[in-house]
Amino acid sequence: MDQFLENLNDAQREAVIFGEGPLLVLAGAGSGKTRVLTHRVAHIVARGDAEPFEITAVTFTNKAAREMRERAETLVRDGRGLGGAFLGTFHRWALEVLRRWPEAAGLPRRFSILDPDDQRALMTRLLKEERIDTKDHPPRAVLGRISGHVNRMEGVERLEARSGDNRAQITARLWNRYTKEKKALGAVDFDDMLAQTLDVLRREEVVRKAVMRRARYLLVDEFQDTNKLQMKMLLTVLAGGGNITAVGDEDQSIYRWRGAEMDNILGFEKHFAGAHIVSLERNYRSTQPILEASGALIAQNIRRHGKTLFTEQDGGEPVRLFVADDERHEARWTVDRISELESEHGLGEMAVLMRTNAQTRPFEEELMRRRIAYRVVGGLRFWQRAEVKDALAYLRQVVRPDDEVAFRRVVNVPARGIGAATIDVLKKHAAGAKALLPVAARDLPESLMPRARVALGRYFELLDEAQSQREILDPADFVGWLLETTGLLGLYDGDEEEKVVRRENLRQLASAVAEASAQGQTLEDFLDGVALFEDSDEETSPDVVRLMTLHGAKGMEFDVVFVAGMEDGLLPHANSREEEEGVEEERRLAYVGMTRARRWLGLTAARRRFLFGQSQNTQLSRFLLDISADQFEDVSDQPWQMAPSDEPEEFGTVVASRGRHQQRSAGSADSAPPIPSRRSTGRKIGAVVTDGSGVGWRPGDRVRHRRFGTGVVLSCRGRGPQLQLVVYFDRGGRKTLVPTIAKLEKL
Ligand code: ATP
Ligand code: MG
Repeated sequence: MDQFLENLNDAQREAVIFGEGPLLVLAGAGSGKTRVLTHRVAHIVARGDAEPFEITAVTFTNKAAREMRERAETLVRDGRGLGGAFLGTFHRWALEVLRRWPEAAGLPRRFSILDPDDQRALMTRLLKEERIDTKDHPPRAVLGRISGHVNRMEGVERLEARSGDNRAQITARLWNRYTKEKKALGAVDFDDMLAQTLDVLRREEVVRKAVMRRARYLLVDEFQDTNKLQMKMLLTVLAGGGNITAVGDEDQSIYRWRGAEMDNILGFEKHFAGAHIVSLERNYRSTQPILEASGALIAQNIRRHGKTLFTEQDGGEPVRLFVADDERHEARWTVDRISELESEHGLGEMAVLMRTNAQTRPFEEELMRRRIAYRVVGGLRFWQRAEVKDALAYLRQVVRPDDEVAFRRVVNVPARGIGAATIDVLKKHAAGAKALLPVAARDLPESLMPRARVALGRYFELLDEAQSQREILDPADFVGWLLETTGLLGLYDGDEEEKVVRRENLRQLASAVAEASAQGQTLEDFLDGVALFEDSDEETSPDVVRLMTLHGAKGMEFDVVFVAGMEDGLLPHANSREEEEGVEEERRLAYVGMTRARRWLGLTAARRRFLFGQSQNTQLSRFLLDISADQFEDVSDQPWQMAPSDEPEEFGTVVASRGRHQQRSAGSADSAPPIPSRRSTGRKIGAVVTDGSGVGWRPGDRVRHRRFGTGVVLSCRGRGPQLQLVVYFDRGGRKTLVPTIAKLEKL
């Protein structure tokens, strides 16, 4: 037996050595799914079932792909290596196809890639040209809508057909312009990469065959987050046969807003007839208390297979709950714990996870004050910083002289007197010459103002000189030369901190290019890599605390995890109200966060929070009600109690209020959440009231309604046939019901 099969349990081994045909590994967090995928790749190669170049493994992030390569390479001992295997994200996979067969997709040989920043710039320009108010139609929102349609594979015709719908009409108009503009620019955005690849795969047999050959074994991690486009790509490449290995967990599906379809995983057998399904039940990641609390939470979701998870790790620290006075207090408590736990776990093993990027600031301030090293993952990304993007635009111009996006970005950086008026003149000239703007501009048309003409001439001289320098200099020196000669570095002369930082960023870019070239990459490869770069890829010194969003934490694990902002409106996020399944998705997000923890998990909330420019009272997350009182330890200064709020709240059910420690009978296995009734009424905590048919009810009871799904009883009014229950439903929000008439089922 292969040596590495020893480090697997029976179910994992079954999946790793499984032969041909479709295979689904459906299992909970931390059960070793990613480990199975990695081992399976190694095993296929080691056993000689396939050559490395016949393996395609699609992971969710570049980082996961890198780890898979590293791990699999150490597993394949006989030195055959994994050289030819494709390991990477869906986008990377698609980009390789388009780079190899651009003409099949109707793209120029050196098409460029629009990153989200470029997309926004382009959409802003189109909105302006179309005279559409960006307040009513913010560029991001328009792009988001278009992206949603593309990922659900809905064409623009569908929108156009909705003649009475003004917003649909505007979106359709912008979408058409956007498509046309990208074509004129010879550029693709991230969605196009997938959509156009699918298109090529379907149309061009040669391409399809070639891709299929490289995907004799096709493995996909985090399968629950695949969307329709990605699924179609898989189905096209597998063409009814093939060896797909999908691993995933429907409870961790968190990209519905990007079109992820849980049906892909829940209906796997429909898509892949005769699929073999393996479930993994042993969790290797977390301690018992962490598993129990997260398990109780996710058990409240309806749309799921339902799975069991157990751990053999005995004992463990209880899950902590801390309700702070405000967000600064929340940060202080968290950082206190971080410094206490540092000696045992190290900073690199700790993460603070949150729903929104905006929550990081107080944590940053506190960490800074205490001089604890941290990094915000997913803040303004290195490659998105203005100075870095400018430098990249110059590089793009050198590699691809007709890159219009890059041209527009830097033709006047530093300022050369080539303004909007000049660009307009050039646009007209380009239209007449039927050429791309940066190409036509080289004519230095007579219609330009003399000064602009001279300036433009100099700009092109600079680019030409850059072309020849590129031949002579090594890549790092070339970038250094370019930064100096273009005057980009000079823009940030001076001692102000901001300028020093920007100069430093530009130097970092030069070293990144040097590093890439040391690994044999061309400048073109490097620029592709940058376009697909994700924040999680960024190299960090290992010993820093990470601050990141729950979305960004998928697939990762840390010894110590804090899930911050456990408040209604944040988690679940207020936006999720609008969506029927929104709350379930938010619960999955909370579940993903909690299950990142190996040994120590803290949940925090604030009674007041500064939101939208003012300090507001908050309500504790309803998800805390899903976890029973004996599954966490409340360590708040003023232990909280949960009480239904008096005002008819639109959203959220529970207010945090100062008061007595909530009553918690030791060792009680009662899973009813701890909701004392309102203090104002003086009613006994949890008093049971019977309804017309003799069934007893009390606040905290979990119920199910035919239409609204599951919910929790907040309060009882009246008794007997007059008994009314105020219930908060996952899907329906707050409702007042007579239990016998509503046919409420007690869970
Ligand atoms: P997630 O759902 O969060 O993506 P996962 O199911 O992919 O989790 P992994 O990340 O593969 O889980 O594994 C979780 C942890 O458990 C890792 O640290 C992994 O090394 C460890 N692990 C998994 N299987 C075993 C095993 N058989 N023996 C020892 N450790 C294991
Ligand atoms: Mg995983």
